[in-house]
Parts: sequence; structure tokens; C-alpha cells
Amino acid sequence: MRDPGNLIDIDGSFGEGGGQILRTSLALSLATGQAFRIRNIRAARRKPGLLRQHLTAVNAAAEIGQARVEGASLASRELIFKPARVATGSYRFDIGTAGSTTLVLQAILPALVVASGPSALTFEGGTHNPQAPPFDFLQKTFLPVLNRMGPTITATLDRPGFYPAGGGRFMVTIKPARRLSPIQLLERGEIQNCCATAIVAGLPRHIAERELRIVHERLSWPEDALRVMELPRGPGNVLMLEIQSEQITEIFTGFGERGVRAETVAQSTVAAAQTYLDAGVPIGKFLADQLLVPLALAGGGSFKTLPLSRHAETNIEVVKKLVDVDVRVALESEHVCTLEILRTR
Ligand code: AMP
Repeated sequence: MRDPGNLIDIDGSFGEGGGQILRTSLALSLATGQAFRIRNIRAARRKPGLLRQHLTAVNAAAEIGQARVEGASLASRELIFKPARVATGSYRFDIGTAGSTTLVLQAILPALVVASGPSALTFEGGTHNPQAPPFDFLQKTFLPVLNRMGPTITATLDRPGFYPAGGGRFMVTIKPARRLSPIQLLERGEIQNCCATAIVAGLPRHIAERELRIVHERLSWPEDALRVMELPRGPGNVLMLEIQSEQITEIFTGFGERGVRAETVAQSTVAAAQTYLDAGVPIGKFLADQLLVPLALAGGGSFKTLPLSRHAETNIEVVKKLVDVDVRVALESEHVCTLEILRTR
């Protein structure tokens, strides 16, 4: 048997070497009560150690888990986290910068969905950040899968926040399940609907229109499936491609950047969606790494996805350190991979 008081050692420089190693450790530690020490936090990133967004995640996890924590300060590269009891209820977390709020949620949601009472969370900061799940992905892709495992989670966007201005806000309500049920996601089923939204916040409308023209040309999606959304606060530009199938909704997101043409942003977003469509799998690249945590807590499940990203490969190792599961990966073809999570005791 594991002794939750024994510190499990996590190497933050392992594999992908980013913030996800920390967030997965926090999430599983909170949900299981297992204490851990992480060294070399975000060693592979340009600015290693805890940034504001990671510190917010650590503090949020500490508050919810009434944890004893050492090393929770900006730029810290080592942390010890010893959780006590999970305290459900109402919480508000403000990143104070445009850092990703959905990534803070990643660290605390798994514990709250298997807790003893309901919770209501408010997040303030960035809601549509590069290298993070955009709010829409959270709401339409990740949470519906999690809800199929037992809990009832809703997410509502009050206002979006883009990097670098931030200022976004969203709310999450959680009715927990006590235990998560394993889930099998091996088929995508028929594609039922495809639509694209190009958001421009405080930027010219033609940016969004040029992005949607590329979507129309390359994916042959009809004009009435393409929508421009103009918002006041910004600057910000996001292109989201939504593919609804019988079993799952996947969202592919491109982020406009200064100095990068709208056409280029749209082409790479379309290419990601096309790879997914061609492979015929239900689970896309990002959802694959994110599902590992709830499936590990459920102690089972399986899904078909694209060949694994480095994020997913790294997350598999972190999950196996903190929970008694094995993860079997079978590459079925150049484009399709099946993952199976099994309890080891
Ligand atoms: P890290 O780079 O270690 O901070 O982890 C980034 C996390 O954000 C991973 O869980 C990714 O799956 C997730 N992520 C990054 N980009 C996207 C995206 N476009 N859509 C959904 N999730 C994303």
C-alpha cells in the first residue's frame, strides 16, 4: 500500500519539462491525499520555475486541500505539497495577469469532482491563451467527457480575456460523483456538424474574415457555418474550429499573433483539424493528455487518439507515479493509437 504521508518524488525536468507535470501532480495529490515533492519545476521552459499562473494553481490547490506547502513563491523551482482534507465550497481565483485560468482549473478540478460536496468556482485572468485549453474547449470538449464519468460540471463564460490584457472571467459549478466511472472512447461516430468562429477583440474585422476564407476554401465548410465575433476589449484574435460527432465534440484553436498573417494562423489550425478528420479517431491531441488524469482516478478506461504528443507521454509517467495504474499504448497505424488505463492493485 502507498503511504500518503511519504513524499513521492517528481522530476519537473522529465520529458516535456513544463507546467503540466506540476499541475498533474497537484491534481492527483489533492484527489488521493498523496504528498509529493517536485524538483526542477518547468526546467525545459525559457523562464523556468513558478510563474504567476503556476503559483495561482499551487495556492488554489493548497487552499482547497488545506495543504502544507513549502516553496510556493514566484520563480521557485522546488515545491513540497502535503494535502489534508479537500474543502468544497465557493472559491474565487484571480491570476492577476493574463495567465491561463483554465490551466489553474486543471490542477483543482479532479479533486472537486470526487469530493463529498458541491463547489462553485470563479476564475479571473486569461480565458483564451496560447498553449492552454481555451474556454470553449473546456466547456464543449473536456467537461462533457468528464460529465459522462459521473459528475455534473457546468462552465459559463462571463467575458473572455486574451493575452496580454487578461481581464476574462468564467464560472464553474461542480456536483461531484464521489467515484469516477471508467469510460471507453473508441469510436467517433458520424460527424454531425462543423462550424468555425473567428474572434477579433479590438482588432479589424478583416482578420477574422480572412481566416474564415481559408477555412471555407480548405475544409469546404459552408458559409453559414462560419461566424465572425467582434468583441470590444483586446487586442485578441482566436480562430476555433468545432467538429461535433456522435461521440465527442473536438475544438481546434489558432491564436493570432503580431507579425503572423491571418492566413498562416488559419492554415495551421485547418491542418490540425484535417489531421484529426483523416485519422478517424474520437480524441484529439490535447484532449488525450488531459483525459489521463480523470481516467487514472477512475482506475480504468480506454480511448483512440492520434499518435501521442510529448505532453501525453510525459503525463502518462507522472500519472503512474501518483496513482496505482498502468497505461498501455498500442500504435495501430501511423495515425492511430489506442490507450488503455488499468488498475495495478
Ligand atoms: P504545459 O505546456 O505543460 O503548460 O501544458 C499545456 C496544457 O494545455 C496541456 O494539457 C495541453 O493539452 C493544453 N493545451 C494546449 N494547447 C491547447 C489547445 N489549443 N486546445 C486545448 N488544450 C490545449
